Amino acid sequence: METFDIIIVGAGMAGASVAAELCDGNRVLLLEREEQPGYHATGRSAAAYIPSYGADNLALHYLTACSRSILQEPPSVFRVPTLLHQRGLLSLCTPAQKAQASVDFDRLRATFAGIAQVDTAFIRHSIPLIRDEYASSGWFEPDVHDIDVHALHEGYLRILRQHGGRLVNNAEAVAIERRQQCWQVQTRDTVYSAPLLVNAAGAWADQVARLAGVNPIGLMPLRRTAVLLQPPPGCEVSGWPLIMATDGSFYLKPDAGLILASPADEHLSEACDARPEELDVAYAVHYAQAALRLEVRRVEHSWAGLRSFVADRSPVLGYANDVDGFFWLAGQGGHGIQMAPATARLAAAQIAGSGIPADLAALGFDPAWVAPGRL
Ligand SMILES: Cc1cc2nc3c(=O)[nH]c(=O)nc-3n(C[C@H](O)[C@H](O)[C@H](O)COP(=O)(O)OP(=O)(O)OC[C@H]3O[C@@H](n4cnc5c(N)ncnc54)[C@H](O)[C@@H]3O)c2cc1C
Repeated sequence: METFDIIIVGAGMAGASVAAELCDGNRVLLLEREEQPGYHATGRSAAAYIPSYGADNLALHYLTACSRSILQEPPSVFRVPTLLHQRGLLSLCTPAQKAQASVDFDRLRATFAGIAQVDTAFIRHSIPLIRDEYASSGWFEPDVHDIDVHALHEGYLRILRQHGGRLVNNAEAVAIERRQQCWQVQTRDTVYSAPLLVNAAGAWADQVARLAGVNPIGLMPLRRTAVLLQPPPGCEVSGWPLIMATDGSFYLKPDAGLILASPADEHLSEACDARPEELDVAYAVHYAQAALRLEVRRVEHSWAGLRSFVADRSPVLGYANDVDGFFWLAGQGGHGIQMAPATARLAAAQIAGSGIPADLAALGFDPAWVAPGRL
């Protein structure tokens, strides 16, 4: 049996980032079931940093805000000068949606001063392919960025390795037992032991809790679909902003010369290797064609991933109440990349018993918002 101070189950963005925050001074083991870490939600995201996204939820708002400095200017171990690349967000509505959209705009504007209403000329200049239906009104949020998800995830794993921590792939935790104040975690060929277990298993977090005899938190994995479409010949899309329908029905985004389209679907799913369903792919194409002068002949690529939520859509971060040494880091929903740096710092501070990081405390972040006990 190999012994560690901390075992983390799941090497997606949550597990990798908290491993990096914990590995200085602790013997950390990161277990990943797949051949490669980042195969599930982390590798399937839209890679967007949107400060206003879900900002009605203060936990999400503050964790996103306090992640910004690392994303903007990461330490040299991340090997890139920045993990954020300016994209901007154009939120558009049809004439019939205008009344509700202006209520939403006023609410956002009160918190995010940079957001400004735009006119048809601006919309047409930004998105030359836009159809008339979506060209009459909307708003622009300049402070929206693409995140270099791969560099962020890899950087965290590099920190773990540099501090002597271990990542083991192809290592599904299949049995978990508490014995003599330690967790014994069994994989196919090894048993590992540590007094502390961090559950960062994404959509599988409730399954991992059940293995350990811990009460589940009611996690709901919701499937979301995305497709890649070819723009018309000669149409350069790489400078387009992210486009979102103000009613939340779809979004479009340039992606390596193609157009990424998502129907922003949320279908309750088992924890699994999510696959796109035909109907959702058809919806993605439908919305892209409704907003853009685009004739889709074929879908270049499609995929789906699971965004996992609990009932109040806040993340779940903290010690389980019902057993010793079991720490939850789950339920990141659609924010798990953009808020990863602050979430990992908060989790590490709670594990170390050092309270809340100063930047979150200064905003008035309350750990009760994310504590598993609230569920
Ligand atoms: C289509 C889509 C678009 C998104 N867009 C954005 C976006 O623009 N911005 C943003 O911030 N977020 C976005 N998200 C959300 C973001 O991707 C997730 O919140 C984040 O990746 C969750 O990370 P995670 O580490 O918790 O989960 P995962 O990346 O799923 O990692 C969990 C890992 O645990 C492993 N595991 C599970 N069980 C076991 C076990 N028993 N033993 C060992 N390993 C185990 C799994 O194999 C998996 O690798 C999007 C998600 C999707 C699906």
